[in-house]
Formats: sequence, structure tokens, C-alpha cells
Amino acid sequence: MPFSKLGLPPSLVNGVKAMGYVDPTPIQLRAIPVVLGGGDLIGSAQTGTGKTAAFALPVLARLGKHEARGPRVLVLEPTRELAAQVETAFRDFGRFTDIRATVVHGGVGYGRQRSEIQAGTDIVIATPGRLMDFLNEGTLRLDALKILILDEVDRMLDMGFVKDVKKIIGKCPRERQTLFFSATVPPEIEEVARFALRNPARVEIGVSRTVNQSVTHAFYPVSMGLKFDLLVALLEKTDFHSCLIFSRTKHGADKIARKLKAANHSVAVLHANRSQSQRVEALEGFKSGKYEVMVATDIAARGIDVAGVSHVINYDIPANPEDYVHRIGRTGRAAAVGDAFTLTTPDQLGEIRDIERFIGQKVPQLKLEGFNYHATPAVSPVAAGPRYVDPRAMRHGHQHPRPAQPQGHGQGGAPGQPAQPARNFGSLTRGRPDPRNRGGSGWGRR
Ligand code: AMP
Repeated sequence: MPFSKLGLPPSLVNGVKAMGYVDPTPIQLRAIPVVLGGGDLIGSAQTGTGKTAAFALPVLARLGKHEARGPRVLVLEPTRELAAQVETAFRDFGRFTDIRATVVHGGVGYGRQRSEIQAGTDIVIATPGRLMDFLNEGTLRLDALKILILDEVDRMLDMGFVKDVKKIIGKCPRERQTLFFSATVPPEIEEVARFALRNPARVEIGVSRTVNQSVTHAFYPVSMGLKFDLLVALLEKTDFHSCLIFSRTKHGADKIARKLKAANHSVAVLHANRSQSQRVEALEGFKSGKYEVMVATDIAARGIDVAGVSHVINYDIPANPEDYVHRIGRTGRAAAVGDAFTLTTPDQLGEIRDIERFIGQKVPQLKLEGFNYHATPAVSPVAAGPRYVDPRAMRHGHQHPRPAQPQGHGQGGAPGQPAQPARNFGSLTRGRPDPRNRGGSGWGRR
């Protein structure tokens, strides 16, 4: 069913067309009619499913036109990046309307956000802390609120926002529509849902356990001391356009970035200890192609939308299987293709097993051809330096690192074979992104 048949006004159908979308994703097909009808909704879906448009489009339709009487929609997001991204999506979809959206998050000055609120905005997209500041100082009032959207609730609770979230819900008018999105809905999240929603419809998109159909993924077992060397060797042998590398810790991310820079890569770093301007610069630089590699932690990278990430490399295996799916979801977004490699050490058989059980499939364990698995680990990146050649010069003729035999680690799936990823996003119509144009849905403010 095309977007024009979903009951959206022509201005929004045109906005969607301008974004290059042709057919709605499953969550859009199911959620848009519920939201247009005014009902409450629990959507169990993660980013990558098209959930932003699933709520933004019908919400814009319900608002109709700009009104000066204070925000009628509040969207709560766990991170600044997500808040900024969702604001951009509202602006993109609503480009043929006069509806105004304002983002409110920490890490930047209050002045601009305050004046946008005071000028009269229809939609506020906020992280809980800064929103509380504006509510407490009286700049922002929620009396006119009609729709509350709680996005990525599981992550919001993980980050310790439960008290603020409940306080904010308490400040919203009781007569309202509430939309609630969470990748998973375990009992503690069910409790928040009961507190916030009335007779919600449920839309479950079962991708939280599935990796995108278009992503080929593999584990690369290696000893602890050779991890960084293997990472560099993988990058050298990989024809990547843009590669997102995950580290478990902020410190680890900085260290990997430092070493990769020493190995001649252009590298951006994204984690919570970086200032807002550094985070924006990193993301914009990664999107524009200024940086070919971005090293990030889970929280910072949650939900970030960069079209055309060709490779995800888990330098550290994620702490929980759910994060594996989130990380892998950064590539192969919206029907583009991508590869996802995870470096594993011999003590991580348990984590490997948990991930395979969670996603319901075996992930092949591969060995990188030509890599010396018996080398003495490099003492420092400087010591390792002379061995590294600018990988851009090496990439000609290589499409992917060529896997050799599996390492016999006990957990091998189909040895030497890429996994057959599950199909879950069949209705999307965007092709492989042009690597020269990987601006995604945009980041900066318009
Ligand atoms: P989200 O889950 O909202 O983060 O969206 C994931 C990605 O899919 C974003 O890059 C969206 O721009 C893209 N997307 C969302 N809906 C569609 C659609 N109907 N057709 C094509 N791409 C879409």
C-alpha cells in the first residue's frame, strides 16, 4: 500500500516522496492508522525499522497547521543525537507545512532553545534533563500538550532517566494521546507503560532479534594482544566506504581512534564524554566522508542514522546480545547492504553463544587470510607503525577480506561461509546508497 493510501494529507505524502521513500515499512503500515485515529500505542520496534516516520507522519497530520499556543507534541529521547535526528525527521517530513519543531537537549547553551520555545513551537523533541530545566524555570509549559511520545524507553530507563520521565509524564495533561516505543518490553517497562498509557494498541515488529537481511556478518576470533593488528588488517583488506567501529568503553574508543590515526586513517570519535560540538562535528564529518572511520560507544551510537555505513566492526563484542543487533543495525539500513565483523577473544565463547541464541542463527567464525595469528603483539602503535601502509592505497581490487578456514573455536556456524541473514525489511525500496552521498536524513539544522 503506498503512502497516499494511508490517510495522510498531500503535503506529508509529498514530504515523504521528497525523502525518497516509496512504500511504507511494516511498522509504518501498522502504526500510522492507529496514531491517525487518536489511539495510544505501544510499538516494540528498534531504530532501523522506520519507526520515526511511523510516529512523525501521523503526528504531523494530526497537528495540521502551526499554532502559537505552546507545544502540542512532546517527544522524549534518551540521547542528544537521537533528539537532533528526530527533530530533523520532523522538519524533513513537514517541509511542506508550517509546523515548527524545536530540539531541547543538554551540552549546548540555553539561549537559542529558550528563544525558539518562546517564539512558539508546535513540537518539542527533548532529552529529559534539559527539558526538566525549562519546565522548572517556567519557560516551557505543557498545558497545550495533545500528544506525548516516549521513544527508546528501554534505553531511557537504562540511562537512569526513570524518575525524570515519570515526573515529565505527571506534568502532561491527562487528556492526551501517548505513543510509547521500546525495542523490548520487559516487566519494568510494562510498568511505565501502564503508568503512561490508556488502552494502547500494540504493534510489534519483531526485528529486535533479527539482523538486517542485507547485512553479512562474521566473527573473527583473535588473541587479546593481536586485536588491534587484526582490526588494521581487516580495514586494509576491506573495500569500505564508511566504517563504524564499536568499543565498549569511552577510554577504549579514544585509544582505538588514536591508534587508527597513527595508522593513517581519518577518524572521528563519538562518546558521551565528548562535548556537544565535538559530537556534532564527528557525526557531520563521518556523514560527509571527511572521516572514513568513526569509533563509537553503544550509548552514543544508539539509533544514529547515517545512510551508507558499509561496515560495522565490533572491536569489543557487545556486553549484551541486544546491543549486537543495535550495532549491526547501523549498517544495511533501509535495504542498503553492509558487512558486520566482530573481533572475539578465546574467553568470549559465552557471549558468542548468547548472541547466536538471541538472533536465532549461527554466525560464521572466520580467519583473515594472510594475517599472522602467531605474531608477537605490537607493544605500541608507534612500534607497529612501519608495518601499516595507507589502507586506501591497498584497497584496489579487494571487495571484502577473504575469509580462510575457521579457527576451530567450537562455535563456528557455516565455516568459511557468510551467514544467510534473515529477511525482515523486504518492502523498502531504497537501493544501495551512493557512497559519495551519504548525508542520511541530514543532521544539521535547517
Ligand atoms: P528509523 O527506524 O526511523 O531510524 O529509520 C531507519 C532508516 O530507514 C532511516 O534512514 C529512514 O530514513 C529510512 N526509512 C524509514 N522509512 C522508510 C521508507 N518507508 N522507505 C525507505 N526508507 C525509509
